[in-house]
Amino acid sequence: MLVKNGMAFVDGKFIRADVRIENREITAVGLLEACPDEVVKDAEGLYVLPGFVDIHIHAFGGADCMRGEADVRRMSEGLLQTGVAAFVPTTMSAFPKETHEALEGIKHVKDHPCANGAAVLGAHMEAPFLAPQFKGAQLGECLQLPTVQAYEEMTHGIDCVKMMTLAPELPGAIDMVSYLKAHGVVTCAAHSAATAQQVHAAADAGLSQITHLFNAQSPLHHREPGVPGAGLADDRIVVQVIADGIHLHPDILRIAALCKGSEGMALISDSMEAAGLPDGQYDLGGQAVFVKDGAARLANGVLAGSTLLLHQAVSNMIKLAKMPPETVIPMATSTPADSIGAKGYGRIQEGDAGVLVLMDRDWNFAGVVA
Ligand SMILES: [Zn+2]
Repeated sequence: MLVKNGMAFVDGKFIRADVRIENREITAVGLLEACPDEVVKDAEGLYVLPGFVDIHIHAFGGADCMRGEADVRRMSEGLLQTGVAAFVPTTMSAFPKETHEALEGIKHVKDHPCANGAAVLGAHMEAPFLAPQFKGAQLGECLQLPTVQAYEEMTHGIDCVKMMTLAPELPGAIDMVSYLKAHGVVTCAAHSAATAQQVHAAADAGLSQITHLFNAQSPLHHREPGVPGAGLADDRIVVQVIADGIHLHPDILRIAALCKGSEGMALISDSMEAAGLPDGQYDLGGQAVFVKDGAARLANGVLAGSTLLLHQAVSNMIKLAKMPPETVIPMATSTPADSIGAKGYGRIQEGDAGVLVLMDRDWNFAGVVA
């Protein structure tokens, strides 16, 4: 397959380049002539982007990673059609046995990928080591203090955990951060009442991300910057941002992007099962979720994940937050990939995953080539 005549995002800028994909891998980038019998996709007038990488996603299209392998496979196949090349299925608060079963399902798809699906890079555990007062849509009864014993009860025999979100102020959290770092797991802070000083101390121990910046965490005050303030100020930290225009005001999206730049901010979906589906009533962790105008809320009005697709997040950052495309594209591609050490994803270069996203000149999704 040769994608010809498009403006491709290569090495941080848009250039007139053709891209050849063979066996789901990019094999050539440049001004290329089609080989005999080669399928050609004309991308005249379109932007050609690397496939997206979503490091925080619970569910999509009626499928939820907490429900086991079959649902993770449905997510994988559905997400590829929205331009996602790779993702990190994210678990919700649940009791240890349920969490273990969900992680097993994620591991199976990681080890035995779908032929026509987005790759699973590992699992992101968003619970249970969270602060009750900032639990958001997480189930309070499943939360617990961070201990290695509790972690091993949920993950024994499973080596696919790539990321964990926790509240760094909890007793035992700093030791847990050190333990996870030693086991190659990326630690993120959220659902947390931490002070800025506590976040910096956790970063000293290896914490390297803030999950859904500003959402379900201590606020930013000019005399106590809290979790978001520390995330914006600390260069060791990548901030995850939900750019659906609902979780954060466009001014805040712009401030975060100006602060962190393209390599310090990762666009996430944090989506629940209604993503890709119409408004209505859905489920998240056994709770009823009401989706109206794309906003997903529990009965008490608390935001319960999103219905965001990453191509919409890119478009929102360009149109709502008024950030240059060259700054925004890495936030949905190479930055999330690099932040978890996922080689082979996030760039248009030889050897990388053969998934390309097409967008029109007004930054509307125009299809995927995979
Ligand atoms: Zn989440």
